[in-house]
Amino acid sequence: MTTDLLERRPEPRPERRIEGVVPISARELRFQRRITLLMTIAPLGAVLWAITALWGRGISATDFWIMTSFYVFTVTGVTVGLHRYFTHKSFRAVQPLRWLLAVAGSMAVEGDVISWVAAHRRHHAYADKAGDPHSPHLIQTPGFKGTLQNLWHAHMGWLFDPEKTDRERWAPDLLKDPMISGISRRFPMLVILTFTLPPLLGLTITGTFHGMWTAFVWGSLVRVFVLHHMTWSINSICHFYGRRPYDTDEESRNVWPLSLLSFGESWHNNHHAFPSSAYLGLEWWQVDFGRYTIRSLQWLGLVRDVRRPTVEQRKAKRSG
Ligand SMILES: [Zn+2]
Ligand SMILES: [Zn+2]
Repeated sequence: MTTDLLERRPEPRPERRIEGVVPISARELRFQRRITLLMTIAPLGAVLWAITALWGRGISATDFWIMTSFYVFTVTGVTVGLHRYFTHKSFRAVQPLRWLLAVAGSMAVEGDVISWVAAHRRHHAYADKAGDPHSPHLIQTPGFKGTLQNLWHAHMGWLFDPEKTDRERWAPDLLKDPMISGISRRFPMLVILTFTLPPLLGLTITGTFHGMWTAFVWGSLVRVFVLHHMTWSINSICHFYGRRPYDTDEESRNVWPLSLLSFGESWHNNHHAFPSSAYLGLEWWQVDFGRYTIRSLQWLGLVRDVRRPTVEQRKAKRSG
């Protein structure tokens, strides 16, 4: 499968040209697929290694705290930064916080800020219709095989597609922003940083190379693995299975078990109903760590104009 992914030529899609989507050259595609494979297979390898080699030995307190703090930093960068702030502009933030959110989001290794935002805005524009980069409903194969193909495509298969989202079309505001385009250009450096900081911390705290190695496995690779699959589950599971309290014209769903580790992202039907809301958990019982973070930042005076739907707006969209 690996070789097939790398060798497969980009297929032009003559059926219909979709606005805001551009095909990429064979050379660019090859490079992109290699990088994507490395970024997805290496963390998977680390998880398998951690399961087999460390079974029964658990994780040291040092590694646990390194992994947890880097997870919290980067998942907040994704949900509060890349998603709620940069994509949907659901609140206003002071300049140093904008910088921090862009850096934290980049360190999640899900693409540079501008590409992430462009792909996600395209997802909302075409949600579950032709042109959506990661819908689990567009492959026509019938039966269980079709379901699996669709879920695979929405989860991570789409990352290997021979097309890219036109950044000029979907994120002109960020391209014009010198600070954000600067951080976007430095994405490779931030990827190196996200993988090297945990082992450096492990080495500093334990003073041993073994401590450096286990901090790399847990704090860098396992952390990125969990974060990636959490993000991708929003694209696959949360458009496939779960409750739909609001009437929306796509297949978005709320999946409560994913809300804890996704920091609120899995209240995805709420999100499609009110894309510009800074809060994704809208009921008091819908756990949304992103919401609590934004509230704290607001309390500190770093964030203002936090957008959320009114009771009437929510009533109007209620299903059933
Ligand atoms: Zn969605
Ligand atoms: Zn969104």
